[in-house]
Amino acid sequence: MALTVMKFGGTSVASVERLQKVADKVIRKKEAGDQVIVVVSAMGKTTDQLVSMAGEISDRPSKREMDVLLSTGEQVTIALLSMVLNERGHKAISYTGWQAGIKTEAVHENARIASIDTSLIRPQLNEGSIIIIAGFQGVTETGDITTLGRGGSDTSAVAIAEAFAAKRCEIYTDVTGVFTTDPRFVKKARKLKEISYDEMLEMAYLGAGVLHPRAVEYAKNSHLELVVCSSFTDEEGTVIKEEVSMETSKSVRGLAFEKNVTKVTLLGLPNNVSAVSHVFDTIADKKINIDVIVQNVLDEARTNLSFTVDQELLEETLDVLRGSEKELGYQQLIYESELAKLSIVGSGMASNPGVAAEMFHALASQKIKIKMISTSEIKVSTIIDEAKLIEALDTLHETFHLSEEESVSL
Ligand code: ADP
Ligand code: ASP
Ligand code: MG
Repeated sequence: MALTVMKFGGTSVASVERLQKVADKVIRKKEAGDQVIVVVSAMGKTTDQLVSMAGEISDRPSKREMDVLLSTGEQVTIALLSMVLNERGHKAISYTGWQAGIKTEAVHENARIASIDTSLIRPQLNEGSIIIIAGFQGVTETGDITTLGRGGSDTSAVAIAEAFAAKRCEIYTDVTGVFTTDPRFVKKARKLKEISYDEMLEMAYLGAGVLHPRAVEYAKNSHLELVVCSSFTDEEGTVIKEEVSMETSKSVRGLAFEKNVTKVTLLGLPNNVSAVSHVFDTIADKKINIDVIVQNVLDEARTNLSFTVDQELLEETLDVLRGSEKELGYQQLIYESELAKLSIVGSGMASNPGVAAEMFHALASQKIKIKMISTSEIKVSTIIDEAKLIEALDTLHETFHLSEEESVSL
């Protein structure tokens, strides 16, 4: 019998009334003859509220306790959804991550799933029960509760689908699919019928919050068919799969962005072979993630080095660099806040050298200053002022004809 994993996100399970709508979809799937595993997120803004409560107690609460706290959100949803389904005459059983045998590595707040013991719930599934599993959580070998990083319920769903050899994994959310860019920011954003794993992976890593990047990574590795669709309507969603047909492959498929970016620059760093690695070692020691990097050699003796970090890590980054001023040997430390990273993504770009030029022309025509650039085979990212983000998104959406239906281009 075919198995489908259905995942419902926070907005989709935000109230008891919405849980009834979720139940409608789950029951329909079950009545169509599939075995069903449902993975759910915490209700509405629950996780944010728990984070802010912890913030009232401590600036840096223990990561272990944060995981114990945040994992409670999903536990509420599984029990309520199970009650709704049972009340409507369908046998359903809820499981926390650990009850469902989800083991993770021993890392708090951003753990990777290490294994899933399917034998724990397989009998109930085979008996015909609807299985409801809490997303975003697992347990270490030694019994500590872990979470998978914000947005991680998508990853739970995909990993469960893979472990149970599901025919596909459906991610139900508050938009009708994956769009050319976030439809909340660009009115003309268009829903894509399909997108390749690689393109979706780039989009997700570059800020398209519709899917947790690791969920896409797992789906790609196991060739699992992943679908993003609406919790509220029956509209067809977006299929994420290996290759999208050549006919429908445009050079740029979507735009992704991140806000709250800051740029840190070290002016007059010694121009020797170890200075740059010394800077990044110092930052990495504090587990601070940096992103785009640009180095400008000034002359034989000196070089400037810039990189970006999240706004929330800026203070810590500046503290670390100021604390190591003598060892690093730079002349001045400056920074710029309220920036955004804007990226164009598309696998067709690899064979189309004019794309980056087109992007920069379009931004220049709107007098949008480019502060940094980084590229890979299937993306070009630029750092710009956050105040210009919407204008830049609209311009690039237009430039790359992203509102237009994909046409056959042989
Ligand atoms: P859920 O709670 O269901 O997991 P999320 O808020 O995590 O939902 O993800 C859905 C949101 O992702 C949408 O409301 C939308 O604002 C945002 N989003 C960002 N980029 C895209 C995109 N390219 N396509 C669709 N939605 C996007
Ligand atoms: N509840 C978690 C969060 O808000 C996980 C998820 O929704 O995917 O990040
Ligand atoms: Mg999400």
